[in-house]
Amino acid sequence: MARIVAVTNQKGGVGKTTTCVNLAASLAATKRRVLLVDMDPQGNATMGSGLDKNELKVSGFDVLTRRQNAADVCTEAPDSGFDVLPANGDLTAAEVELMNEIGREHRLRLALKPITELYDFILIDCPPALNLLTVNALAAADSVLIPMQCEYYALEGLAALMGTIEQIQETVNPALKIEGLLRTMYDPRNSLTLDVSRQLNDYFGDRVYSAVIPRNVRLAEAPSYGMPALRYDRSSKGAISYLALAGEMVRRNGSQQSEGAVAV
Ligand code: ADP
Ligand code: MG
Repeated sequence: MARIVAVTNQKGGVGKTTTCVNLAASLAATKRRVLLVDMDPQGNATMGSGLDKNELKVSGFDVLTRRQNAADVCTEAPDSGFDVLPANGDLTAAEVELMNEIGREHRLRLALKPITELYDFILIDCPPALNLLTVNALAAADSVLIPMQCEYYALEGLAALMGTIEQIQETVNPALKIEGLLRTMYDPRNSLTLDVSRQLNDYFGDRVYSAVIPRNVRLAEAPSYGMPALRYDRSSKGAISYLALAGEMVRRNGSQQSEGAVAV
């Protein structure tokens, strides 16, 4: 049964999509069965996985509007070992179409149900806004993975995100957990980074991943070739840092399952 993880942060440009694509490739490299669900109409995760968002015959639009089963829309990311439920600008139309539907927050959750046993991890890339697409992702997820940059306003944004998670727990998904906080574009030479990082650790403790993602040009270049960094340059610092994250995530989930632990 897959663990469904929504990669979310209302702030744009913090590394959500980069994390989704590279974590998917890294988990696949550790022989886990992975599905990456693109819930952002920008389709960056789709493109970054090597699929052309302008050439999709079926996409997340068809799944959310129940024109297609998820199983028939999922497709392989070329040479990367994971599957993608791809998306493009049509997702915005799906969001509009759902507006007046009963149970509109639960479309993705219900659509993924028949395929969760096919995967070990399902990662959902969220748009940088709290819209119906994000709420669908959070309603479908077991947990949230929060990528963040250690900069001055990060903690403020995080407080808002925690408020959102609480609201989701009170309404559409009481079982939603925090999978972990991931420090992205990390620069240990910057004293502000270290300062914010320390505050994060004080507040969130072991929910902050030990693995950090450094600022690395290979991670920024790889999407233009439609590849995870692991394929583009497997010895790059970026690729290696996401492998470390995948290892930490697998270990954490393994120990949680064996202890039956649920604490967040
Ligand atoms: P989001 O999905 O949160 O909007 P992205 O993953 O698209 O953020 O990242 C925003 C930009 O920063 C992209 O151009 C991406 O290539 C770049 N980027 C993300 N993570 C890193 C990193 N660790 N090092 C260098 N560039 C990065
Ligand atoms: Mg993105």
